[in-house]
Amino acid sequence: MSTLAIDIGGTKLAAALIDPRQQIIDRQILPTPASRTPEALREALRSLIAPFAGQAQRVAVASTGIIRHGILTALNPDNLGGLAQFPLVDTLAQLTGLPCLAVNDAQAAAWAEYRALPGEVRDMAFITVSTGVGGGIISHGKLLTGRQGMAGHIGHTLADPHGPLCGCGRRGCVEAIASGRGISAQAVDALHGMTAKEIYVLHQQGIRRRRA
Ligand SMILES: [Zn+2]
Repeated sequence: MSTLAIDIGGTKLAAALIDPRQQIIDRQILPTPASRTPEALREALRSLIAPFAGQAQRVAVASTGIIRHGILTALNPDNLGGLAQFPLVDTLAQLTGLPCLAVNDAQAAAWAEYRALPGEVRDMAFITVSTGVGGGIISHGKLLTGRQGMAGHIGHTLADPHGPLCGCGRRGCVEAIASGRGISAQAVDALHGMTAKEIYVLHQQGIRRRRA
């Protein structure tokens, strides 16, 4: 069975056709629509999947934000704007006519990492640091999604009550401090204005220099 895999992020939308041997056959990337309205996202998804029409038997989606019963809600408005209660699964099922499954992207990544581990591992926590901070939990061999879709979502846990304001509206979340955006915002002196990626590269070079 071939799968149409879709990734919905704050800056880009990606789709790939995966064959039954789990190999990527074809892929396409489009920018996330700047207006971030439900209509714009629906049209962008339509363009994204158009090249793969009739080639897959099911759709699997990993998305930023909270996914609950197939409905997407942006937790951090900086990532997906004002999207609230977007019917993600219904929209893709309508556009493709195929069965569709959607989970939060960090939860999906946690599951992918778990599947790559030796069989005796049954419990695992996964943390990802990119534009935001996300996470996923595997317990007794099962991915926890949580009643509200929030299981493992460590990014909006309080880290410092006096910390910087987070995109979600609260103060001092892990994401406001330790995300790519947060790291870049705190950079001072020679690092001022650099992206988290550039700071990380310099950090790695410093480690290498110390070891040499
Ligand atoms: Zn937050």
